Amino acid sequence: MREFDDIHTVGVVGAGTMGNGIAQVAAQAGYDVIMRDLKEEYVERGLESIEDSLGRLVDSEKLTQEEADAARGRVHGTTALRDLGDADVVIEAAVENMDVKQDIFADLDEVCPEDVVLATNTSTLSVTTIAAATERPEQVVGIHFMNPVPVMKGVEIVVGEKTAPETVSVAHDLSEAMGKETWESDDKPGFVSNRILMPWINEGIRAFDEGVATKADIDRGMKLGTNVPMGPLELADHIGLDICLDATRTLFEELGDRYKPAYLLKRKVDAGDLGKKTGKGFYEYE
Ligand code: NAD
Repeated sequence: MREFDDIHTVGVVGAGTMGNGIAQVAAQAGYDVIMRDLKEEYVERGLESIEDSLGRLVDSEKLTQEEADAARGRVHGTTALRDLGDADVVIEAAVENMDVKQDIFADLDEVCPEDVVLATNTSTLSVTTIAAATERPEQVVGIHFMNPVPVMKGVEIVVGEKTAPETVSVAHDLSEAMGKETWESDDKPGFVSNRILMPWINEGIRAFDEGVATKADIDRGMKLGTNVPMGPLELADHIGLDICLDATRTLFEELGDRYKPAYLLKRKVDAGDLGKKTGKGFYEYE
């Protein structure tokens, strides 16, 4: 198996919210990055997000212009699946859908050399089930970055039923090389993070829908009352309401009634109001 020291090029599947963040932190850590999405316009949007994000780091003097330019220069966007065959490790950050992820992992299994570790950034789906789409389940692991990736320190390493200890080590080492701190979770629905976070968000949405308080007071109450940086509705907009609905549905399917998605969450997603990324969720954004 390709070890941590053999990793020079990181492949990223998906150039969306998480994919472009992962590509950025990998590039900042000195890795060459191949970021793949389905359409040229998605790749371009991802590259623009990276440029904007690096620009903000330069403005706040966390990075020099030279460092930002060098990091940007290391990220190569592509729509060609075969380009991922040049990566020493691949991190998948496509949509939160099991069929899509299994198709992607079956494809990666074809194009990537057999000693390469394949990781998924899934929020709630089973790493074991995703790994089953490959001939290398012992080399499949969850590397669950938090949003926004360049800002959030934590990374959850998810250990599937067949994940080998060497693969888990690569996941920890790679995350740390990208400036992150890790914790481990077994491959159980929602892992540690979303098993606890999603019901909190869902209950915030229900409290709003059932008229317990205004959305502003729900968010304010949780921020002032429990010392979190964002309330549940604000955080839901930030994550993306579609992602929250997918995650909550998975928990509901696996763990039962206590996780049933709030009616208002479904209604907002059906209306296309997905939060910050569409300019409107519970709040409106420029
Ligand atoms: P997103 O919708 O912003 O981006 C997903 C991208 O994947 C899109 O650009 C889409 O075109 C692309 N894609 C879909 N199928 C593809 C394929 N076959 N090949 C290449 N690209 C493909 O979603 P996101 O918020 O970045 O979430 C990505 C993953 O990360 C999901 O599994 C999600 O659960 C997880 N995650 C999200 C967050 C969050 O806060 N948004 C946090 C942690 C983990």
